[in-house]
Amino acid sequence: MVRAVVQTGPRQIEVREFPRPVIGPDDGALLRVEACGICGSDVEQYKGAMGTRGLPMVPGHEPLGIIEEIAPSTAARWGVAVGDRVAVEILIPCRSCDLCLAGQYMQCKNKAGSHGGYNPPERGLGLYGGYAEVMHLHPNSIVHRVRNDLPAEIAVMYNPLGAGVRWALQYGGVHLGSTVLVLGAGQRGLAAILAAKYVGAGLIIATGLARDARKLELAREFGADHTINVEEEDTVDRVRALTGGDGVDVVLDLTPMAQQPILDAINAVRWGGTIVLAGLKGHRETPIPTDLLINKALTVKGAFSVDAAAYTDAIKLIESGQFPLEKMQTHKFGLDDVEHAIKLLAGEIDGEDGIHVAVMPGL
Ligand SMILES: [Zn+2]
Ligand SMILES: [Zn+2]
Repeated sequence: MVRAVVQTGPRQIEVREFPRPVIGPDDGALLRVEACGICGSDVEQYKGAMGTRGLPMVPGHEPLGIIEEIAPSTAARWGVAVGDRVAVEILIPCRSCDLCLAGQYMQCKNKAGSHGGYNPPERGLGLYGGYAEVMHLHPNSIVHRVRNDLPAEIAVMYNPLGAGVRWALQYGGVHLGSTVLVLGAGQRGLAAILAAKYVGAGLIIATGLARDARKLELAREFGADHTINVEEEDTVDRVRALTGGDGVDVVLDLTPMAQQPILDAINAVRWGGTIVLAGLKGHRETPIPTDLLINKALTVKGAFSVDAAAYTDAIKLIESGQFPLEKMQTHKFGLDDVEHAIKLLAGEIDGEDGIHVAVMPGL
């Protein structure tokens, strides 16, 4: 039998036992889950904000584990064998539609479902999420090899770091010598700083709230040259002062809900610079001074999801051992404490604040 967390409704989760799946001749693989990250979407999912159509289901969409069994055809397609450690992407694309063939598989038209996300109800309740001892990986899954000798709670950071690489480097175009402003000091803000530092950015400035003091300290340890407490200082004034009045090449807005950072981004970026928007604002509209976008010849990009190339580079960053990533790893929980873990990340546990929170089914 296999233990797994099952969400049955909004704010309703329980641990259940499932029979261990049997892998058919072309039926993907079984993953022994070592660790699974938690992010803001887990909080939304837990609260029921993402709908209830796919329930009951096993959540957990940032898994890392060891291939325990694999169908021969799947092993050949993925290039992995029993005993290999892999990071698993959330989406299960068809690999055949025009978007998949164009590399835009995150928007695949014929998705088989997603790991730990909401699957088509006809897929039923199965071990398709990472909050479980064992997970069944669909043969169309996308997996990435990760060195077996790293601590699982560090290796599992491939997910936020993949976002940092995607948003700062791919969308933002940050490279050797770039000047960068990262708005927001959550795990993805810290990941963006790491990615920018990894490629040799020349100046990195990070912002946060007064309650983010510890995260901003970590931002400095990870490579931020300056940090701004936005409750005490004006972001735009400080950035201008630090850049000789020019503003920075690239601004990333990773703040959830807040609208002021979007305006700060437009004012703090240099002429001809790039703004990457990755902080969702709960469908609220932000008035934008479009004349400034025109007169400053700005590029504004919406950052949707992470792709295989970003995960590959994120894994290289982790394996490089260049950064003290363990300082970002604040909490580990077993399956029985998943609800506590999600509430912690949601800020619902008084006096406790997490950065990278991992579920470790072996605990
Ligand atoms: Zn996530
Ligand atoms: Zn497709």
